[in-house]
Amino acid sequence: MKHACQEVSRLASDSLDRPLSLLEKLRFHIHLSVCGNCRNYTENMHLIHKATEMMQQTNYGHIRLSREQQQRLHDILHRETGV
Ligand SMILES: [Zn+2]
Repeated sequence: MKHACQEVSRLASDSLDRPLSLLEKLRFHIHLSVCGNCRNYTENMHLIHKATEMMQQTNYGHIRLSREQQQRLHDILHRETGV
């Protein structure tokens, strides 16, 4: 994984926890516009985040995924889908 991609994946997970600064957003979006891998990566991450939120609103609400578990889930998806 390229250095820029690592930074972007970190920003993607940070963005779920805190608002990104203007500079971070800029770097993030500029990188996404040129890197399909990271586009898929952030899409997956948001899907997982949404799925986790949905689970919490249903009968599975007692299941809480930690950030580490979400990351692991994402890593698996990343491997399986090759993005
Ligand atoms: Zn990238």
